[in-house]
Amino acid sequence: MARERKRHNASFETLAIHAGQDPEGLTGAVAVPIFQTSTFAQEAVGKHKGYEYSRSGNPTRTALETCLAALEGGQWGLAFASGLAASDAVAHLLSSGDHVVIADDVYGGTYRLFARVFDRAGIALSPVDMRDHAAVRRAVTKKTRLVWMESPTNPMLKIVDIAAISEIAHKAGAIALVDNTFATPFLQRPLALGADLALHSTTKYIGGHSDVVGGAVIGNGAELRERLAFVQNAAGGVPGPFDCWLVLRGAKTLAVRMERHSQNALAVAEWLQEHPKVSRVIYPGLASHPGHDLARRQMREFGGMLSFEVQGGEAAAKRLVAKTKVFTLAESLGGVESLIEVPLAMTHASVRGTKVAPPAALVRASVGIEHVDDMIADLAQALG
Ligand SMILES: *Cc1c(COP(=O)(O)O)cnc(C)c1O
Repeated sequence: MARERKRHNASFETLAIHAGQDPEGLTGAVAVPIFQTSTFAQEAVGKHKGYEYSRSGNPTRTALETCLAALEGGQWGLAFASGLAASDAVAHLLSSGDHVVIADDVYGGTYRLFARVFDRAGIALSPVDMRDHAAVRRAVTKKTRLVWMESPTNPMLKIVDIAAISEIAHKAGAIALVDNTFATPFLQRPLALGADLALHSTTKYIGGHSDVVGGAVIGNGAELRERLAFVQNAAGGVPGPFDCWLVLRGAKTLAVRMERHSQNALAVAEWLQEHPKVSRVIYPGLASHPGHDLARRQMREFGGMLSFEVQGGEAAAKRLVAKTKVFTLAESLGGVESLIEVPLAMTHASVRGTKVAPPAALVRASVGIEHVDDMIADLAQALG
């Protein structure tokens, strides 16, 4: 216990490897075991070692939840079967008649969850461009219970002022949540900036190897924890022990990966900026990005995601992504390997024709941790 507490004051890199991950008591196993069991023996009715049934709790999941809480600087963490299962659990905190203010370019699945599932539960939704604080203030009503931020956003990489928007939420008595999937707790700590909850698709950077789907919510305060843990168990969107173990293994190297992702993305962005066939590069680490100063204040570095527009429209964008080899043409992001896609034709096809549709010639890259020279050579040959 004392040792665990000491580790919670340790730095990020150390917490990633040790928080929740003391050597196992029975055998001394250094790696957290995969407790692949659905149920736990009881000595007498109700007399057990803290676990009864794996939906309610599993030691491998506890290790992951403890680690993620430490990384976000929260008092508690809860792991889910996917990012959307985590979002669904948060949405279950609401009741009919409640109102949610959501970033107008949130992850598409988050928008769909509120607009097409929870709308039937009588929960109203106001999408707002959260760079406009006056617009957020106007959108908030007496019924607003939740303000849902994302920063940087996908795929336009808009930067939202987490402290300022959290303050607006709190004045209205609403919960301030940040989907921190793109930044990760290594680059940005929403709870320290004033948010109540940080949410993750651990499928992306925290898992980091494109081999697992998972989600998590981290926060402070016993009451919120109790309500969310109740939903986690009552609705049952829990991850299995092996998936928890994969996410935990990914989390160990999060710091070194994010440093390299950020370095590589900056170098690729600077190179793209000089290319005659590229009309615009969007990366928060570039001085030309409108959110650059804010990103410098609230992020440690600028992450691995960048977007750029090519000359020649959607057809040219599609030709480019079909030609890259180091950058694999695929949806998703956040793994060690570089991925590339055309948002309007792929991840964001459902918003084509709406005011939040990305430009047709926009290409989004998840810059991996291969050698940066190989990435640049690949983009050079594909741009032709
Ligand atoms: C992928 C993603 C999600 C959804 O997570 P899943 O693990 O796919 O359910 C939520 N938010 C963001 C920002 C994402 O990139």
